[in-house]
Amino acid sequence: MGVPGAGLAKGLAVTLKTMTRRSHTHQYPDVAPDLPPRSRGVIALLAENCTVCMLCARECPDWCIYIDSHKEEVVVPGAARPRQRNVLDKFDIDFSLCMYCGICIEVCPFDALYWSPEFEYAEYDIKNLLHDKDQLGEWMDTVPPPPAHDPNGEPAKEESTAAKRAAGGEPDSGRPARPPRAPR
Ligand code: SF4
Ligand code: SF4
Repeated sequence: MGVPGAGLAKGLAVTLKTMTRRSHTHQYPDVAPDLPPRSRGVIALLAENCTVCMLCARECPDWCIYIDSHKEEVVVPGAARPRQRNVLDKFDIDFSLCMYCGICIEVCPFDALYWSPEFEYAEYDIKNLLHDKDQLGEWMDTVPPPPAHDPNGEPAKEESTAAKRAAGGEPDSGRPARPPRAPR
């Protein structure tokens, strides 16, 4: 059996400790919050990297990415035929539907989408939460630089291959060398 009144004393001790501790209330919006750099605030678009592969729009669970494009012929000197490339006309994200899951950023194979910690884009009219290509592009200025590599981490495969090449040794691909082709 415990000492009578021990629980009460313990409760009062916690109250006293809490009373003397400084408050953690953030005085937003007078004081900007100190957010971690990888906070999910808004999605930024680097349109130059976008090849209109449509992966992000297809994988978005909320179907809130709207993309439009047209094809353009590019004449490559020396090529037999002109090439075709996609030109991005429209890239909108509706942030009134977005659930900030980050799937679009994860699946983009061309590093065209990034998280920005900016979150102050509330609107009085919900329609204005549809950000177009230009607006998404402007968020790029607020994307923090990528974190530095872990000095104790393994070097990237490309780095070790380049180091081996520089040292004069052929990198070991793990596959047997292909025999030379017989002369015809
Ligand atoms: S974060 Fe998720 S919900 Fe928002 S646009 Fe990207 S895939 Fe869609
Ligand atoms: S996944 Fe990336 S490259 Fe493909 S359409 Fe989306 S943003 Fe553009």
